[in-house]
Amino acid sequence: MTREEILYWLKNEDERSLTELWDKANDVRHSQVGDAVHLRGLLEFSNHCSRDCHYCGLRAGNSKLTRYRMSEEEIMCCVEEGVAYGYGTLVLQSGEDYGLDVDWMTKLIQRIKRETPLAVTLSLGERSAEDLTAWRDAGADRYLLRFETSDPELYRRIHPALPGHKPNRIELLRIIKKIGYETGSGVMVGIPGQTYEDLAKDIETFRELDLDMIGVGPFIPHHETLLGSDAKTPTLLAENQVPNTELMTYKVMALARLIQPLANIPATSALATLNTPTGRELGLSRGANVVMPNLTPKKYRALYEIYPAKACIDETAADCRSCMHRRIQSIGRQVGKGRGDSPSYRRA
Ligand code: SAM
Ligand code: SF4
Repeated sequence: MTREEILYWLKNEDERSLTELWDKANDVRHSQVGDAVHLRGLLEFSNHCSRDCHYCGLRAGNSKLTRYRMSEEEIMCCVEEGVAYGYGTLVLQSGEDYGLDVDWMTKLIQRIKRETPLAVTLSLGERSAEDLTAWRDAGADRYLLRFETSDPELYRRIHPALPGHKPNRIELLRIIKKIGYETGSGVMVGIPGQTYEDLAKDIETFRELDLDMIGVGPFIPHHETLLGSDAKTPTLLAENQVPNTELMTYKVMALARLIQPLANIPATSALATLNTPTGRELGLSRGANVVMPNLTPKKYRALYEIYPAKACIDETAADCRSCMHRRIQSIGRQVGKGRGDSPSYRRA
């Protein structure tokens, strides 16, 4: 796919011709990864974060947020629930929390791998190569780290680096791959200051990194962040700014499927937040093959407030399970069995 073709679709607003893009993405999804929809149990086990990303409600400077970190026993209860629900994968996600000691995390991963058949995906931010290697050796299977935007200047503006570090998630993703993780990344769509050219380059970067998993969601402003407060948000001329809409998110997901056909692609919670009744189903019909039912205990869900009005914060893990099953059946697809490893990773 050329840059021009990507830009053509990103700028296309004609509903009738867009059905061609949806159909192509759905056909490629069907032929390359099949009709199964894999369930990943998502456990948001700590909302502590040492970073100050200008888009995220968990950022360290947000003093209004009550912080929590789940204990090993609390985590294991949720893990057992995930096993009982038949999930093949556990996604352990948190802020970039250095209170999560590398050895504590190592022992937790070893215990989950010893006591359950689950594939373990980590999404813990930018940890050192040593930490990442220790967790891979402990049995972690996959690592998720969105590069958010491939434009270095925009990235620098929204994602302050730690003192003494160069901001470079793309470089870290190459290291994650080398360590042997099944590697996932992705972007937010409609970041203030993001141009169509930036987004087209992001989509090319999915292929360049040969990603096994690609997560794409709309940017949703959070009032306790720099990008959520209008006064400080950088603005572009209207015709250059990518809108943070549901439609634009589907286009990026569909193009991701076409450019990296074997990747696992989730219909994300951010998408479901913009369209709770049918966002997930539409995502699954436009390239996606994964959903992530939430395993986080109800008492913590509202505190994992990346952005406001997040979908599913009032549900229990059991509600999420039956909701996902119902949605998958309603579009004539079936729930995937086993771990649902990415065929691109198996091929490598
Ligand atoms: N701390 C880890 C990290 O940054 O990779 C994992 C958790 S972080 C909350 C997961 C993802 O949430 C980020 O990669 C980002 O794309 C997304 N996110 C954060 N703030 C968001 C916002 N305001 N709107 C949409 N997505 C957001
Ligand atoms: Fe922390 Fe991740 Fe949010 Fe950045 S995106 S503030 S690293 S939780």
